Amino acid sequence: MEKVIVRYAPSPTGIPHIGNIRTALYNFLLAKSQKGKFILRIEDTDRKRFVPESVKAIEDSLKVLGLNWDEVYRQSERLSIYQRDLELLSKKGLAYEDSGAWRFKVEKGKKLEWTDLVHGQVEFTADVIEDFVVVKSDGYPTYHFASVVDDHELKISHVLRGDEWISSTPKHLLLYQAFCWNPPQFIHVPAILGPDKKKLSKREGARSVLEYIEDGYLPEALVNFLAFLGWSPKGDKELFTLDELTSEFSTERLNKNSPIFNLEKLNWFNKKYLAKYTPKNLLSQVRKFSKKAKSEEDERLAMIINLIRDRMTTLADFDKYSGIFFEKGEEPPPPKEKARQAKEAVEKIENWDEKTIEESLEKYIKESNLNPSDFKNTLRLAVFADNTPPIYQSLAVLDKSEVISRIEEAIKKAK
Ligand code: GLU
Repeated sequence: MEKVIVRYAPSPTGIPHIGNIRTALYNFLLAKSQKGKFILRIEDTDRKRFVPESVKAIEDSLKVLGLNWDEVYRQSERLSIYQRDLELLSKKGLAYEDSGAWRFKVEKGKKLEWTDLVHGQVEFTADVIEDFVVVKSDGYPTYHFASVVDDHELKISHVLRGDEWISSTPKHLLLYQAFCWNPPQFIHVPAILGPDKKKLSKREGARSVLEYIEDGYLPEALVNFLAFLGWSPKGDKELFTLDELTSEFSTERLNKNSPIFNLEKLNWFNKKYLAKYTPKNLLSQVRKFSKKAKSEEDERLAMIINLIRDRMTTLADFDKYSGIFFEKGEEPPPPKEKARQAKEAVEKIENWDEKTIEESLEKYIKESNLNPSDFKNTLRLAVFADNTPPIYQSLAVLDKSEVISRIEEAIKKAK
């Protein structure tokens, strides 16, 4: 079988959004699932629309998700190849000069068809195609020309791209025929739509992968989410690492219908991946998002993460739910008598660890004949003055001395 070689071919005209990166992901998965090659090709021949920063944004977006490419090319460095092939066309009488540009001569009446791996049989007639420019007057090739020449040069076996390129494919086929080259397989994947079934807007989610990362989404969650926007595996399993996606991926399971972007689903994936990590493995990720976490020691930070992560949706939520471990909340203190009792109970605890705290407070509740939930509420108000995760575990995060001084402060304030 022919080796699978694919390319992700972005035009560096801006910051790639998740729809573009989904195309890159599918290319990566197609290549890697077949032990093939994944090429990054920067299509920078439109000098007017070229945005230099976007090359780095493209590379960073791929890297952060682990979509490492095997080879990289820039079309602006390959002008001699396009020039050579333009001469070939013109020698065959299939290209002519017009106002300083070169046009391809379209033979009318031709039927152009291909079997698309997503859309099935697709047909066009050349009658609707004008003689199109292949090399512009500035000497740079057009997208159509450079793309076909490079796909041939780089031995691309499958062209997987967004379906907005379907109407360009007949032009590409004309070029393949003119050169007597075999075209690759075409796979046009439907665009991701917004909840209103229209083109996904920036507000609805068409943002860059890097922005999602900055918002506290995990790369694994983004990869999993993007993979499922237009593809599905065989069974019901939903959580797939990049490696698992690679073994599962096949073009047959790419969807014909446009997927709808759903932020709730991304949030769901992110929560799942937050839960999958051990708190220790989340330390450095959390520290990127929180000043407080930065100056916190590993062990205590891991305890906090462990207690609050099922409430967090993104890494950026750390500060929102961890506040009580750094500063008391706003709720009023419990009655003085009850607060005094809480202090006495805490003072009796001999070893300051979760297990001993629980055993010893439970014992105190029994011996003093207290209502357990009322006593826990007293502790909550006196120490945290806000909602908390399970109270005994929450107490264990603080030092004993801090718990006592927080209670003393409550006693002072209480009536
Ligand atoms: N440069 C085109 C883009 O920006 C590539 C289309 C293709 O993959 O052929 O999407």
